[in-house]
Amino acid sequence: MNIHEYQAKALLRSYGAPVSDGRVVLKAEEAKTAAGALDGPLWVVKAQIHAGGRGKGSFKEADAGEKGGVRLAKSVEEAEMEAKRMLGRTLVTKQTGDAGKQVNRIYIEDGSGIETEMYLALLVDRQTSRVSFVASTEGGMDIEEVAESTPEKILSFSVDPATGYQAFHGRRIAFNLGLTGKQVKQCVALMGTLYKLFIEKDMEMLEINPLIVTDAGDLKCLDAKIGFDGNAVYRHADIAELRDTTEEDPKELEASKYDLNYIALDGEIGCMVNGAGLAMATMDIIKLYGAEPANFLDVGGGATKEKVTEAFKIITSDPNVKGILVNIFGGIMRCDVIAEGVIAAVKEVGLQVPLVVRLEGTNVEKGKEIISNSGLDVIAADDLKDGAEKIVKAVKG
Ligand code: ADP
Ligand code: MG
Repeated sequence: MNIHEYQAKALLRSYGAPVSDGRVVLKAEEAKTAAGALDGPLWVVKAQIHAGGRGKGSFKEADAGEKGGVRLAKSVEEAEMEAKRMLGRTLVTKQTGDAGKQVNRIYIEDGSGIETEMYLALLVDRQTSRVSFVASTEGGMDIEEVAESTPEKILSFSVDPATGYQAFHGRRIAFNLGLTGKQVKQCVALMGTLYKLFIEKDMEMLEINPLIVTDAGDLKCLDAKIGFDGNAVYRHADIAELRDTTEEDPKELEASKYDLNYIALDGEIGCMVNGAGLAMATMDIIKLYGAEPANFLDVGGGATKEKVTEAFKIITSDPNVKGILVNIFGGIMRCDVIAEGVIAAVKEVGLQVPLVVRLEGTNVEKGKEIISNSGLDVIAADDLKDGAEKIVKAVKG
């Protein structure tokens, strides 16, 4: 689960990490008061979307020379004007894809004098099963690009969970970033604070890009991007409250209401499968036959008819879907339950695209019988390969 920059900064502030003072704005009318509550003489007006690269992004239908989603303002009036110009419009960045994201919230914060910009992140490293620090002198840049072109400029190491964060971790980062004097001490304290926050709130990723040295020589977190482990959010009521569902894919949001493991993708073949492994294999084989999956969906072992119906409705609601492949290897999941769910969904929402069904395993005969008695126009398949071939052929001709 991701949150906005202003929410991330509030969390950082509550743990004592250095961030600028700022105000969030939901309506244009609030912008002037918000800016007026800050010190000035420089304000930064920042579009709040769940994606990075805002500064270098651009708005749809932008005027010539118009700036991206992070703008400087030299007066309260200017800050208000910039906030008004951004609210409600669609910002496209490297991370949003071509569709972009609508800006519904603006963060106005005090402008900082910047001496240097650096990169810092904490993340869960799956290789070592530990929390890792990633630091680089190349701040404000796309870290993937730095990793590609100048990997030697990235410092990365993991923290032993038995000892936790130690001052030497912070010093290692400080010296690598070329910090001196009081900054070293600040760095040791800040890294400890970030590590504590990361662990206590079950984060998956915490990225400060840029971490800066201000013109007064102090460290400050100028941007903050946080992702939480979705499976642990139930332990943190305060974090769950920060969820902004308008930032999520509506299909994934609907799926989460029914506890379905669904992930929206860009392809044309909708998939309904039981078991994550089989779902992955199904996506692979669709690609092998020359098409692209429109989604990942594992309906799980104990799915009810209602759950299957909802899953099918979510798949058909995707306008990119040109065909559907139902691939069930019934173990705990019974084929007749799947068949009933699919039919109930088709009765409700209709079926405009070809549907290939492959059923195998528990109650397979009953399942096939339900489908053939339904009068539905279904293409039956014998196995995974047959199913993939048939749906790709039906869609691509
Ligand atoms: P994004 O990473 O989405 O582009 P950032 O918050 O990192 O957004 O802002 C982009 C750039 O804008 C930063 O690298 C920094 O140079 C500048 N910037 C951001 N916030 C401030 C601020 N409060 N004061 C001065 N400059 C800022
Ligand atoms: Mg940034």
